[in-house]
Amino acid sequence: MGWHLRTRKDQVRFTAVITVIVLALTLVLRVVLLPDLAARSLVPEMVIAVMIAVPITWVVGQKLREAQDRSAQLEHALDYDLLTGVHTRASFYRRIAEDVDSPCAVIVVDIDEFKAFNDRHGHFAGDQALRQFATILTSNCRRADIVARFGGEEFVIALRGADLEAGRVVAERLALRVRTSPIFCGERNLKLTACFGVSAVPPGGDVEAALQEADRALYRAKSTGRDRALVHDPTRDSVTTRPARAAS
Ligand code: GH3
Ligand code: MG
Ligand code: MG
Repeated sequence: MGWHLRTRKDQVRFTAVITVIVLALTLVLRVVLLPDLAARSLVPEMVIAVMIAVPITWVVGQKLREAQDRSAQLEHALDYDLLTGVHTRASFYRRIAEDVDSPCAVIVVDIDEFKAFNDRHGHFAGDQALRQFATILTSNCRRADIVARFGGEEFVIALRGADLEAGRVVAERLALRVRTSPIFCGERNLKLTACFGVSAVPPGGDVEAALQEADRALYRAKSTGRDRALVHDPTRDSVTTRPARAAS
């Protein structure tokens, strides 16, 4: 039986159901095993059964509720980045594997000179900036798309059903939105820019290979001036321009 004890009401229901089951079993056993005992002792026996069953079931329900709460929090932390609320790297790969038969475009994103931003405005402002940056990405993508934080100030986006050209259009729009959106840190309105590298995954294609291609385009965006979105170009992005991303 799958008990989901999310609220106190669920716990009350759990206690009531188990108590009724205990009462019924007590009654059946009493009648079957001890038919000769006086019927008048039945009521006090039932009261005792209730007095034992209710507190024990209540405590068990409480423990179950706490364990289920903790497991839900852990599941959430596995799927969603604690700071920004977007998908984690593990969740990205899990979700993308659910639909390998559709094409998609992938965009690798890296905030420009974020170390300097932290040094100038402090780590707390950096965290606030990361949250707002993630919101800019998610609010400019569709619900079906997957926005994930792969680590630090690096994000990856999968655009479901999109080809390379659609990926380029979205990446350029995102670069514009990032460039023109103020980042609110207390009293200050700050600015950020980012680089975007785009590649495409054909139906049944290799996502990891496409991410590496997008990563190389991103590297070219960094080395040619930052604040731009570039599509992977095999003639310009040599495989040796950037080491393969580390899997984690
Ligand atoms: P580039 O334009 O070449 O990407 O330069 P960069 O400074 O963005 O890149 P670099 O890899 O040198 O620095 C990344 C910085 O991101 C360093 C680190 O302090 C910051 N960072 C990573 N994760 C977090 C975080 O969770 N919070 C904050 N505030 N900063 C972070
Ligand atoms: Mg960076
Ligand atoms: Mg980086």
